[in-house]
Amino acid sequence: MYRLTPAGLYMLAEIESDATALERVERMVTALGRDMDEVVRVRPDNVVEAATEIQGNWPPAEVPEGQLKERTRSLAFTRLQLGDEKPDLDEVLQDAPEDTPRDLVANLLGCFRATQRRLREDDQTRNHVCWCAHEFGTMVGCPHGCQYCGAGKNGKLISVAVNVEEFIEGVVEPTLRENPWQKCFRMIGWGSDQITFEPEYGLFDALTRSMSRFEDRYAIIHTASDNVRWIADLPHRDRLICVWSLTCNAVAGQIEPAAPSGTERIEAAQFCQRIGVPVRYKFKPIVPIRNWREEYAQTVEELFRETQPESIGLCVLMWMTAEQLKQRIDPALLDPEYVAAMEEAADDMKEVHTGPFPPAVRAEVYRFFIEEVRRWSKEVPIYLSTESRELWDELGPQIGQDKRAFVCGCGPLALPGGGLAVSRSFKYSTYEAKDA
Ligand code: SF4
Repeated sequence: MYRLTPAGLYMLAEIESDATALERVERMVTALGRDMDEVVRVRPDNVVEAATEIQGNWPPAEVPEGQLKERTRSLAFTRLQLGDEKPDLDEVLQDAPEDTPRDLVANLLGCFRATQRRLREDDQTRNHVCWCAHEFGTMVGCPHGCQYCGAGKNGKLISVAVNVEEFIEGVVEPTLRENPWQKCFRMIGWGSDQITFEPEYGLFDALTRSMSRFEDRYAIIHTASDNVRWIADLPHRDRLICVWSLTCNAVAGQIEPAAPSGTERIEAAQFCQRIGVPVRYKFKPIVPIRNWREEYAQTVEELFRETQPESIGLCVLMWMTAEQLKQRIDPALLDPEYVAAMEEAADDMKEVHTGPFPPAVRAEVYRFFIEEVRRWSKEVPIYLSTESRELWDELGPQIGQDKRAFVCGCGPLALPGGGLAVSRSFKYSTYEAKDA
């Protein structure tokens, strides 16, 4: 796992009575070179105090030598509250000071979701094209510092749920049984990068064992990390698909502190491909920095020199207003022509989910990437990720895939080897208003 130096270490006290979960915590604490005596036991009667402490200790006044600020966020081990008896947050907070961070209290107590379903109606409303799918998460918070991401820029805590076996039995396997149409399941987490805690966490070993109990089911790793060597030891790595959020080295260096460079991610993908795990890339988000064409062209060339990806996804930085973007990323780092276009369209794009860059800018960026990718591969499937129906209408012919049913990276039907597992009951992306 990543060499973290958390400002504070916390564990839900009830974990002490679960030997498997406790052993999991001990593995991770030992890997960090810390001792279980340093771990604060969290109960309803001290959780407010712990949350207030965490609120105050990031960003740190000082960073240990050779360490990265993002790797000092506090770390908590908790349990996903899967049963009927969940902590009542209002009750826990009734006597707490008004400024007590409710989200930190919730994440310390494990009151966060274990699964979500991407809904067709949501995509239709937001006018972005993707695939409906069930996806999973057992973690909130991230050791990377991507500046466009709330968890990366301002996250104070990484909360890791350690009741993995209960999660597999009570969430994953019922979901697989009840949804035979879905073949691939993203383990995405919530503002987190789950593989950064492996192999000590042991989540993906349990998850791929579970997938192997079903016919043609796969777990998707969605990551910006290069921590992959442990995958070689997984008995069921044939049930894994690895998808990288890829960027060029300049963006990684300027805007994604504490995340590996583009080159390091490609090297990690090469390792995975060598041990038989399918690899896919998503340029998401594409951040149009100054000189972005040259920077990204190098990365496209490099990924094809080192790997044979199953697909390439494209998505320009989105899901915010122009104002929010400028609060998160210094506009001086960005392509001035595009900053001007963004500011000119700021009012029009304010309520547009695919903003802040106007469609013409995004289309120009995608055309550039499509041409660059096709320089190195005439066959690899390209797709737009969470883009508008209009951009698909405009660029679909050049992309060469059907907007209603396209091979992507982390979709429910994108099988290893490149097939699309459409069925009578489920065959359309959310470009369409119906499943089939
Ligand atoms: S890797 Fe993902 S979750 Fe982590 S900071 Fe970057 S965008 Fe956010």
